[in-house]
Amino acid sequence: MTIIEPFRIKSVEAIKFTTREQRELRLREAGYNVFLLRAEDVLIDLLTDSGTGAMSSAQWGALMQGDESYAGSRSFYRFRDVVADLTGFTHIIPTHQGRAAERILFHTILTPGDIVPNNSHFDTTRANIEVEEAEALDLVIPEGRIPSLVHPFKGNVDLEALDHLLTERGDRVPLVMVTVTNNSGGGQPVSLENLRGVRALCDKFHKPLFLDACRFAENAWFIKTREAGQSHRSPKEIAKEMFSLADGCTMSAKKDGLANIGGFLAMNDDRWAENARNLLILTEGFPTYGGLAGYDLEAIARGLEEVVEEPYLQYRIRSTAYLGEKLLAAGVPIIQPPGGHAIYIDARAMLPHIPPLQYPGIACVNALYLEGGVRGVEIGTVMFGLHHDGRETPAAMDLVRLAIPRRVYTQSHIDFVAEVVAAVGSRRAALGGYRMTHAPKVLRHFTAKFEPV
Ligand SMILES: *Cc1c(COP(=O)(O)O)cnc(C)c1O
Repeated sequence: MTIIEPFRIKSVEAIKFTTREQRELRLREAGYNVFLLRAEDVLIDLLTDSGTGAMSSAQWGALMQGDESYAGSRSFYRFRDVVADLTGFTHIIPTHQGRAAERILFHTILTPGDIVPNNSHFDTTRANIEVEEAEALDLVIPEGRIPSLVHPFKGNVDLEALDHLLTERGDRVPLVMVTVTNNSGGGQPVSLENLRGVRALCDKFHKPLFLDACRFAENAWFIKTREAGQSHRSPKEIAKEMFSLADGCTMSAKKDGLANIGGFLAMNDDRWAENARNLLILTEGFPTYGGLAGYDLEAIARGLEEVVEEPYLQYRIRSTAYLGEKLLAAGVPIIQPPGGHAIYIDARAMLPHIPPLQYPGIACVNALYLEGGVRGVEIGTVMFGLHHDGRETPAAMDLVRLAIPRRVYTQSHIDFVAEVVAAVGSRRAALGGYRMTHAPKVLRHFTAKFEPV
């Protein structure tokens, strides 16, 4: 049977059609960086799944319940209870989004020269570690670095490499992180077995384990459907076990919080939490709102309940795989198997004639926009190729991510996207590379400008 959208649509927003000539003009004006386009000039926006989801009628209803008291708001306690029930952590600290949780955590615990291992650091996570002059180290399993290789848990941590790091340089490692699902590595899941292995190493070396939990529910669904002995458990039960293996987490509620803004930092350590709250008050707000409105806390609380519902997760993961299957059928190389929140086109494999330092990912992203007004994002040499000493080298992969906003697009939108990608794929030999004409020093992919080579 067809797996259908497990909702009906109560409110709609028109999208704008443009001509190819209009898109050529807009893209040139944007310095050939789709981040600098106006969103209304985009037809199908797959730039990110972050904060772009559709809230449910229950969430919109909850907004009206928001208690906007500065301190001790009822909405905070509702939010805290939902997060504490899910994660089991003692200290729940709301933040305006995930990177604020990262900044507060890393600024309060890192000293220069520290090392933070992860399966793969997300860009903001890496940047927030490097700004403290610490090293963000990626230790994903070797299979996770081969785009075309099919493996059920390509987000797993290389336990041998982690053991080696903790043995050799453990004194410089204040905590271990695992990102679920592994966004930078293709939205790939981490198995419970692997998380248990990381936990055992953390116990052996007395290190706290933190999850970058942005897509914990999607990860739980992959565990349920792919890991032996897990199929009878509910996604929520599995998610709870994932969190129980950790000592804390950073979270962007813009992903599996099903909210448009928000995040949190959660942990068990009293001293770390006190330092985090002190910095929170300085830069985000009082600990019962953390830079959010009371109504945001309500929306997140409700979203965290909806995101672990089985019909939602089944539809979510299936609709992503559906796009992946269509691209494969069109002969477009993608990271296999499809991840939870996005399809990643392997732009380096698709455009072998464009050298990595001429940004094949940017070439692909720009072609998709020109072809059909579809906006994706480069995850490659522009995002990760610049080192803090100023050198530029090719990133491990040059990918184009097509992220699927939650509950926003229907199957025919996705069919259209597949047609656009297939059309670009059929003309791949005609695409050329780009050179960077404006190169910011940090998180340069957001504001860099380019011109065709
Ligand atoms: C989005 C994301 C973040 C940062 O969260 P923001 O809410 O965008 O600040 C951190 N880690 C991962 C894995 C993410 O996907």
